[in-house]
Amino acid sequence: MAFDIDMIKGVYASMGERIEKARKLVGRPLTLAEKILYSHLWEGTPSKQFSRGKDYVDFAPDRVACQDATAQMALLQFMHAGKPKVAVPTTVHCDHLIQAKVDAKTDLKRANQTSNEVFDFLESVSNKYGIGFWKPGAGIIHQVVLENYAFPGGMMIGTDSHTVNAGGLGMVAIGVGGADAVDVMAGMAWELKFPKLIGVKLTGKLSGWTAPKDVILKVADILTAKGGTGAIIEYFGEGATSMSCTGKGTICNMGAEVGATTSTFGYDESMDRYLRATDRADVADAAFEVKEHLTADADVYANPEKYFDQLIEINLDTLEPHLNGPFTPDLATPISKMSEAAKENDWPLNVEVGLIGSCTNSSYEDISRAASLAKQVSNKKLKMKSQFTITPGSEQVRYTIERDGFIDTFDGVGATVFANACGPCIGMWDRYGDKAADGPRNTIVHSFNRNFAKRADGNPNTLAFVGSPELVTAIAIAGRLDFNPVSDKLINEDGEEVMLEEPRGYELPPEGFAVEDAGFIAPMEDGSGVQVVVSPTSERLQLLEPFVPITTESLQGVKLLIKPFGKCTTDHISMAGPWLRYRGHLDNIANNTLIGAVNAFNKQTNFVKNQLTGEYVAVPDAQRAYKKAGIKTIVVGDHNYGEGSSREHAAMQPRHLGVAAVLVKSFARIHETNLKKQGMLALTFANENDYDLIQEDDTFNFVDIKDFAPGKQLTLEVVHANGSTDNIMVNHTYNQSQIEWFNEGSALNVIKKENA
Ligand code: SF4
Repeated sequence: MAFDIDMIKGVYASMGERIEKARKLVGRPLTLAEKILYSHLWEGTPSKQFSRGKDYVDFAPDRVACQDATAQMALLQFMHAGKPKVAVPTTVHCDHLIQAKVDAKTDLKRANQTSNEVFDFLESVSNKYGIGFWKPGAGIIHQVVLENYAFPGGMMIGTDSHTVNAGGLGMVAIGVGGADAVDVMAGMAWELKFPKLIGVKLTGKLSGWTAPKDVILKVADILTAKGGTGAIIEYFGEGATSMSCTGKGTICNMGAEVGATTSTFGYDESMDRYLRATDRADVADAAFEVKEHLTADADVYANPEKYFDQLIEINLDTLEPHLNGPFTPDLATPISKMSEAAKENDWPLNVEVGLIGSCTNSSYEDISRAASLAKQVSNKKLKMKSQFTITPGSEQVRYTIERDGFIDTFDGVGATVFANACGPCIGMWDRYGDKAADGPRNTIVHSFNRNFAKRADGNPNTLAFVGSPELVTAIAIAGRLDFNPVSDKLINEDGEEVMLEEPRGYELPPEGFAVEDAGFIAPMEDGSGVQVVVSPTSERLQLLEPFVPITTESLQGVKLLIKPFGKCTTDHISMAGPWLRYRGHLDNIANNTLIGAVNAFNKQTNFVKNQLTGEYVAVPDAQRAYKKAGIKTIVVGDHNYGEGSSREHAAMQPRHLGVAAVLVKSFARIHETNLKKQGMLALTFANENDYDLIQEDDTFNFVDIKDFAPGKQLTLEVVHANGSTDNIMVNHTYNQSQIEWFNEGSALNVIKKENA
């Protein structure tokens, strides 16, 4: 059904020679990340050494995966590329559009009614272009990829930032925008700045209450939300090899939360076990034969300080369970310090809901460990104090845990099992109906990866803390944020003091995985006769028109649209939640453009000055007024602008509405690339303090845009309302082919031209 063993054997067949050549060029032993990168060059056998953090390199990924929310726009774009079939194995996964409200069955039925138009579109485009289709309810993209497609030493891209999850099986797997996926699906090279390398040495072994999740929560504490930017994190050491493959997946998954390009682990027996358990003995055998290529050269892990740009060491013997949050995944609190931290910060101690599962933490191991705690509820005469929900990552996991009695255990504590989908992790959780925006201040704990404001339930007053599934379960039993299961006792129904026993579980199901209908639909051999129909009156889908190039003339008299204050993630630029329904309709979804960003001049969201009238209006309204008047605009932002997801809508929407440039202190990598792909200007302040010069009524002239060239700064004349001007210098990272994207209006326009 799933993987392509011949493709994998082909990758392995060429690895040895390519790695040997790279080793000679670099002149030293290689890390695992370097081996994978150098053996996936577009040019084939390497001919030169690349500079980390400097050189743009063309790669040839082995696979592409798309989730339903981003696949719509990616496939709408691919339809313009003029190709009869995708050039590399590609899959589409329906997981983001299923709202969690009642239970799996009811919610899936409703999603199939409300989003049938989108699912039908994705299925027919998949069928036409040779793409594997995972229907709604089949599972979450990253869990399904880990179970079916990931393989040690491979390289893949996916239109979702948590594609990095596949690093758990020793891949270099990278989250990209749909436009990048279109390049690879169309048989073109995929370009990436050669990443820097961060080594994480894990000494000791996990035990007791500490889980793989705590490793990445600690890494997030050390690196912060942007500390991994532009780097691949490579984990090694005794703590790495002694951990399960799915545990490695959890750690790699949340590498996205430190901004890392991706994370990976060297091949070991846990990967062999996982491949065999998921019915891929032939991949396991093939990997075993080339295992020396699937991990770093010996000296790298013996003397890591010589090979990595940054080295972190974590001792798993002393690592405590952590809870990270609220509102940012890098605010880490060891559980023993939570009582103090909660008091200091006035975090509500009562935990209303505990949620486990998601692509981050829904392995058999996670669920069995959580279930071992849920079992203790009745055994110890306790009651689950918080609501408790489970979102399994795939039908295979769900079917197996049902067979093994864990679903019954969860039912026994009154838990709700949601559909095998993203649900609460992406704001598709109907917790408050239409009252979410005014929801009460409250605390939830979950085992997902992100906890930005409104991310789970749309309520800005929900404080979400991220922890391991076992810690989330224990806290849900206690109902308190400051409950430390390592040391605290609970009072049971008989008034006795009891302690929870340490969680226990199985790395893999003792009886093996099982599933009746995994939810996969293979495409037709010849899909040329398949008709893809998009209604012109649809509110969910809209065929695309190519973007018109931004002329140098239109870059004079540019108005400020908004200067966001503080964090401006892709959620602020293009909100998820209810807006997910418009992901395939550019004009409709553009009505959410930047509505979550805080205006630096009045500290309000979605309330900016329309310079043409002087009135304060919603951001999309102001932007549509400028568009109508034929005036281009600019967005000015702070550090790490566009962090969060790979969603290209955050670039396409402003582009569609007429924003020409985004000028910030620094960018999140994927978003910067997405802006470039859509033919916009992605610029950074040469002098960060110039950010403070930008005023609400400013007009901008790109005085030397005619000289736009790689490595050359641009000059921006800022004209203030009183007529005074400031000339500021701005940097960019465009290379010549990216400048071509700008000149042609978009990267897709360039592909089309080349295919014409
Ligand atoms: Fe879905 Fe959440 Fe995983 Fe994203 S992080 S794929 S929204 S479960």
